[in-house]
Amino acid sequence: MSLIVCKFGGSSVADHRQFIKVKAIVDANPKRRVIVPSAPGKRTAAETKLTDLLFLCHKMAAVKADFSGPFEQIRDRYIEIERELGLSTNMGLELEKFRAELGAGQTPDYAASRGEYFCGLLMASYLGAEFVDPADFIIIDASGCVDPETYQLLARRLEDPAKRYVIPGYYGRDRQGRIKTFSRGGSDISGAIAARAAKAEVYENWTDVSGLLMADPRIVANPRPMSEVSYREIRELSYMGASVFHDEAILPVREAGIPINIRNTNKPEDPGTMIVAKLSPETEKNTEIAGIAGKKHFSMICLEKSLMNKEVGFAYRLLGILESRGISFEHCPSSIDSINVIIEDGRLGDKAEVILNEIQRVLQPDSMELERDLALIAIVGEEMSHTVGIAAKVFIALRNAGVNIRIINQGASELNIIVGVSSEDYEKAVRALYSAFVD
Ligand code: ASP
Repeated sequence: MSLIVCKFGGSSVADHRQFIKVKAIVDANPKRRVIVPSAPGKRTAAETKLTDLLFLCHKMAAVKADFSGPFEQIRDRYIEIERELGLSTNMGLELEKFRAELGAGQTPDYAASRGEYFCGLLMASYLGAEFVDPADFIIIDASGCVDPETYQLLARRLEDPAKRYVIPGYYGRDRQGRIKTFSRGGSDISGAIAARAAKAEVYENWTDVSGLLMADPRIVANPRPMSEVSYREIRELSYMGASVFHDEAILPVREAGIPINIRNTNKPEDPGTMIVAKLSPETEKNTEIAGIAGKKHFSMICLEKSLMNKEVGFAYRLLGILESRGISFEHCPSSIDSINVIIEDGRLGDKAEVILNEIQRVLQPDSMELERDLALIAIVGEEMSHTVGIAAKVFIALRNAGVNIRIINQGASELNIIVGVSSEDYEKAVRALYSAFVD
């Protein structure tokens, strides 16, 4: 029998009431046999995420500070779930063991992974499922990506069609056997890996919204949900800042052609968003764009040099300077005698000055500038390449809103148009674009 892998995000497992909703969802469909929980998330906006508390405990323990404050908060959360659901998981003992481990010195990855580990123990007991420790099956390589051997190991472990399994999200182990986590929000990746290993018919990703929205609801009031979106579109949108789904989680399921269904744990009757390989003819017909996403905090290095077009290897050397410092760039628009490189501020860090000095020395440009405070906005849609006038609509909307466009970039795939604007125009630009395409 085919099965469904369900990943439940932090808000879906935030307390015992959410656990009860999860059980109702899982029990409603016998195919839902592989469950991947995150660590309990915030119950109120003011609360700190459990994973953040775990990192904090680790940090304090590392300098021999008293970490009992955040530790008690963590313990209370798990003990409350155990007590309210009447489980006999021995959380008290598990947590005391962990306290001692922290005190004795542990890696930050190990500390953070316990958020999912403890949640998984509780969830397995509550659902009557078998607990599968990802440390035994998910291998994460040095760059934070999954090692392909994982799929065989996990497929064998999830083989029994009569069983339900709970695999905590977010972590696995490295080749040396040490606990290693994915990047933040990485339980989505674990769910995708489990779905691929188990050859799931669908990967359900349960969260606290009824699907993906066409724009950021903090900027646009009540943006429209997307009912269907392609892997390619969603990868672009989540890379460009649309939250809800981790951009690295697309790959494992995409390669296996498994659709992803984003669902709302608090409104399980809502169909949510389907992420598919190929859009249905109906979606193709009715949607001009899939959505709009963007991010602030970019910088742009702008270089000009006469006869740059004749200088073989100019761009190569420029990008080589970034490479030698381990900095990846976002875009590199160029014209005859000028070239710009756009870099996320977090990646540039405090290296800007050193890099500019090196560029000056190696490439001797006529002029060089570093522009700060830029925002990038992507207007994404598979149908863009067959539709006349999308770019015109983008530029008219921004002109009417009085937004100056600093960068224009359209990839050869014609899956998106990216515009760069000053950070202070960011929200205004997103709203203008949304109303041009959707309202
Ligand atoms: N708990 C981890 C985090 O907060 C992973 C996840 O929730 O997906 O990033």
